[in-house]
Amino acid sequence: MTEHAPPDTRPSTGPDAAGRRPPAGEADVIVVGAGPAGATTAFYLAQSGLDVLLLEKSRFPREKVCGDGLTPRAVKALVGMGVSVSEQDGWVRNKGLRVIGAGKRMELPWPELASYPGYGLVRTRHDLDETLARRAQQAGARLVEGVTVTGPVRHERTGRITGVVARAAGEEGERTYAARVVVAADGNSSRLSVGMGLSKRDDRPLGVAVRTYYKTPRHDDDYLESWLDLWDGDRLLPGYGWIFGMGDGTSNVGLGLLNTSAAFGNTDYHALLRKWLKGMPAEWGFTEENRTQPIRGAALPMGFNRTPHYYQGLLLVGDAGGMVNPFNGEGIAYAMESGEILARTITQALARARRAETQRVLAGYPHALSQAYGGYYALGRVFVKAIGRPGLMRFATRHSMSRPALMRFVLKLLANLTDPRGDAADRLVNGLSRLAPNPE
Ligand SMILES: Cc1cc2nc3c(=O)[nH]c(=O)nc-3n(C[C@H](O)[C@H](O)[C@H](O)COP(=O)(O)OP(=O)(O)OC[C@H]3O[C@@H](n4cnc5c(N)ncnc54)[C@H](O)[C@@H]3O)c2cc1C
Repeated sequence: MTEHAPPDTRPSTGPDAAGRRPPAGEADVIVVGAGPAGATTAFYLAQSGLDVLLLEKSRFPREKVCGDGLTPRAVKALVGMGVSVSEQDGWVRNKGLRVIGAGKRMELPWPELASYPGYGLVRTRHDLDETLARRAQQAGARLVEGVTVTGPVRHERTGRITGVVARAAGEEGERTYAARVVVAADGNSSRLSVGMGLSKRDDRPLGVAVRTYYKTPRHDDDYLESWLDLWDGDRLLPGYGWIFGMGDGTSNVGLGLLNTSAAFGNTDYHALLRKWLKGMPAEWGFTEENRTQPIRGAALPMGFNRTPHYYQGLLLVGDAGGMVNPFNGEGIAYAMESGEILARTITQALARARRAETQRVLAGYPHALSQAYGGYYALGRVFVKAIGRPGLMRFATRHSMSRPALMRFVLKLLANLTDPRGDAADRLVNGLSRLAPNPE
């Protein structure tokens, strides 16, 4: 184990006779990307005493396209990292999910469970991501901002990853960084994974969503609001929408589509958002004059849509490994949870004396992920296929929106919120997840 050293921001010196540059930085572990997945991985690794280099292309605080909604799963992950989630510290609490569909609305409080807190939160990514990155730094991780990783460094003979090549903002040329283990936490497009030959799987679900912010009297809503069907006059639009009050005079408003929907590839998402909002009550104020940010969109990689999660020494975490929940589009909690699972695996692996043993422990990471989410995501893939058919989706919405007990079960299923030995609904969700075929 190496001692913690200050961030190395020196440009690398020139290449040697063989054209190789000495590494600009060395560490036990390099984590590429300081979003929720990378920051959490780095936090737990640093807590275990490992020397961690966390490389991030942007500088904090920075924006990230998101709905900004945090379920009790995410609250639990934040609490686990010692983040203070009190309202005095700027967190906005919510009591549950309000569902609007088939002409009805229903408020579903978050379930009362031993495993998760009974409330959710809302926070901009501008604040959330910086908070997590600083937690990683406080634990001892060396965060280097403004450094874009451009590709892997691979062992000449084995092809295993031994480091990364990167470009620092405002600097000529590239630097290399070397480490015993490299983690790809660089989000949906994961350039590093692609550089190792790992592209997205098109047999797994993918969502696309857009969001913006409006000044609105609805900003202090204490429920997250989800619209199951979006109307343009009397025409049903494909997709689902959300309105999350930010508590600061604005709401985050957005909508998304899944790639199982026929409209996925040929929809003007900005126009769809405007059409949907046109049908909203005028007093909510969702008009162009009240819009405070551009409409921006991004992809949601779901249900393990990039595998294997361990390949030639590289470990994938969060969106890089396609870990968004296919049932509800939630990705922050899964990025953080998978980060913790990964950090615990790496800590054990690097404590082994022989390289072969280290590799054997690292190779257990995909299995650990599969144990945690594999069955549930397999169920999610079936769900996503089913709701891609508008007729079936309409039938399911109409049928369930008049049955509160059924909807309470649906909330547990969609938000993945159960106790291991909970009530009948918990046991049913857990049982279904266990029974689902679960290829890694
Ligand atoms: C419109 C929309 C709404 C969403 N709403 C919600 C929601 O309400 N709740 C929720 O839980 N989830 C939501 N999600 C999903 C959520 O945003 C992601 O699942 C989550 O951000 C994943 O975290 P991550 O750390 O894996 O990736 P990211 O958050 O994407 O972080 C990746 C990091 O890597 C950095 N990086 C990328 N490439 C490089 C490189 N080459 N070198 C160095 N650094 C690099 C990036 O700058 C970034 O900081 C939404 C997604 C979208 C698109």
